[in-house]
Amino acid sequence: MKNARILIVEDETIVARDIQMQLLELGYEVVGLATRGEEAIAMTAQAKPDLVLMDIQLAGTMDGIAAADTIRANTQQRVPVVFLTAYDADDVLARAKVTEPFGYILKPFSSRVLHSVLEMALYKIQAEARLREPNLYSQAILDNMADGVLTFDTTGAVVSTNAAAKRMFGFQPGDALDCGVSALVPPYMRPQLKAFLDQVQHRSPSLGTSHTREIVGQRKDGSVFPLSLSVSKMAQQGQARAFVGIARDLSPAQQGAEEIHQLAFFDSLTQLPNRRLFLDHMQQALLTSARNGQYGALILLNLDHFKRVNSTLGYDMGDLLLKEMARRLKAIVNESDLVARLGGDEFVVLLSAVGQHAQAAATQAEATVTKILQELGKPCSLDGHILNCTPSLGVVVFLANKQGLQQLLKNAELAMRKAKEAGRSTFRFFDAAMHSAVVAHRQRVSDLQRALEQQDFLLHYQMQYDQNAQPIGVEALLRWQHPLRGILPAVEFIALAEETRLILPLGQWVLEKACTQLAGWSSNPIRSNWSMAVNISPLQFAQDDFVANVMAALASAGANPQRLRLELTEGMLLQGGVEVMKKMRALREQNVQCALDDFGTGYSSLSLLKTLPLVQLKMDPSFVRDLHTNANALAIAQAIVALGHSLGLQVIAEGVENAAQRDLLASIQCDAFQGNHFALPVAVGELPLPQ
Ligand code: C2E
Ligand code: MG
Ligand code: MG
Repeated sequence: MKNARILIVEDETIVARDIQMQLLELGYEVVGLATRGEEAIAMTAQAKPDLVLMDIQLAGTMDGIAAADTIRANTQQRVPVVFLTAYDADDVLARAKVTEPFGYILKPFSSRVLHSVLEMALYKIQAEARLREPNLYSQAILDNMADGVLTFDTTGAVVSTNAAAKRMFGFQPGDALDCGVSALVPPYMRPQLKAFLDQVQHRSPSLGTSHTREIVGQRKDGSVFPLSLSVSKMAQQGQARAFVGIARDLSPAQQGAEEIHQLAFFDSLTQLPNRRLFLDHMQQALLTSARNGQYGALILLNLDHFKRVNSTLGYDMGDLLLKEMARRLKAIVNESDLVARLGGDEFVVLLSAVGQHAQAAATQAEATVTKILQELGKPCSLDGHILNCTPSLGVVVFLANKQGLQQLLKNAELAMRKAKEAGRSTFRFFDAAMHSAVVAHRQRVSDLQRALEQQDFLLHYQMQYDQNAQPIGVEALLRWQHPLRGILPAVEFIALAEETRLILPLGQWVLEKACTQLAGWSSNPIRSNWSMAVNISPLQFAQDDFVANVMAALASAGANPQRLRLELTEGMLLQGGVEVMKKMRALREQNVQCALDDFGTGYSSLSLLKTLPLVQLKMDPSFVRDLHTNANALAIAQAIVALGHSLGLQVIAEGVENAAQRDLLASIQCDAFQGNHFALPVAVGELPLPQ
């Protein structure tokens, strides 16, 4: 849609101008540039653009998401908003999604991406408008039909309905049926409905073909009824734009359909889905996995020596035990996961979307398996008896339907047999290499846990120097005194500590230890001026009581807050929203300093840097490494120093490994240095004298 009129909302003027140029080149008209949220709202109302291109991170009190929300609330004039963002953090996107944006563009972007996202958004708004156009004549015909008729768009939002549909789902004739189609079925049916619609959308061969499913419908008051839903897509240029659904209430035709459904799909003893419903779900899970590229995991579970319970204590006791195991299984898994009973003492757990990589998926599946072993293994007190029952589990991780459903089940069965052979009450992955990797991972996690309990950690300190080669402080670097492998540097275990959240207690320990050291130096004439830099993990910083924890560590050690410097990273500052600013201000009020670590590796937002109370930028070693061999690297380092200085910040270079690098850094006015050329990280006793 050439000549579409676009409003740009972007607080970085340079970026805004650049986008404006690109839009003009693409043939659009730019109706204005807004820099703040409030301004964007006013200009939208006044200039009536065809589309708003909105940066999510805006200076001022209102960010792009809040502005988009207000713009959306104006129903008189529906203006599509396309978000621009430097950050694809899930929580930001989740917030943004609520405002029903017409697209996202991730910075940095190419002109081609810009063009296609905008065209798509403009197209969507036109198509929506057409769908909404009332056609009284056809509405009268529709309202006289006995079947319910609904149209809904590809996001599932109901666009129009006839009178019968409203009646069927328990709405009054005057009510707008303004929910998503998913609200028309009970929660447990939603994955199936979604899979069905996806199938119609992506796999339906020709237009006009309708697909029918018998599912369970849900009325407004929550009551359910058997529902036959036939759906066909309305498409333009091969793309599905909307769906038409014909809904038929089957309850008058099928007396007791609910019970029939229950009998057909659920196990009567445990009320869990039965094999048939499981196979249906599994088929859908394979299709979904093929589409979204996410792995799933299938866990097959068999109770150990279950027959003995039946033969010694009777079938009633066996039944009670099965019910109890079913209850525990359900309590362990997420709502989106499926637990089913295949028959006898055999259960399955189906985990969907457990990761993009096989190994990550396996690690997640292992976490669930470990919980199952723990929970099911606890003694059961049933009807006056205490029973100990353990499961054996076989696990397969799958992507798409490469192997086919039956093969997957066989593989899970084989893995379960292996677990039985290995002595029961344990698990095996079908893939032996994967099993070893998962076990090794588990071993590393428990090693780390044990190390924490036994306090097998220590701090090393790496000196920092000013331009005159005078010591100005140290960075505390965590080390693991491993019983077999010796002293391990942080790179070897920090990621694992983050993944397992053990970084929280560990990070607190580091803070306390560093503060104690700092207090110890306060009476030492030379060291009393040193600053102590402590690395902070994103998880730590995100805790509500982070600032209080820092202050508590300082207070109990009796250390001077002014000497403590927290090293934060760009990612955590960009993702945290207003909380970040609050915490940093609180720290600053208490005289604790903050530095930005690994600077230059993230997507630096200049406007953010300007507003945050920082005292230091730490230039990432990647810029230092090639300084003496690459002129570009020198230019970048120079730009970083200049940027830091323009914001009134000290710039320290990290990872300085030789004199050539130091000299070049000094020549571009870098303020301070840290690196193996000056000093290796060492235990406190090995720091330069005086002690
Ligand atoms: P970082 O904060 O950027 O720390 C600098 C890392 O570079 C340290 O590795 C240090 O030993 C290494 N290094 C220093 N000078 C040189 C040099 O000249 N050449 C080279 N090649 N490397 C040098 P380390 O101790 O393995 O720490 C790695 C990362 O782990 C740190 O990066 C930091 O992000 C994190 N870390 C370390 N200690 C802690 C901690 O107590 N808490 C948290 N959350 N993270 C920590
Ligand atoms: Mg650091
Ligand atoms: Mg660093």
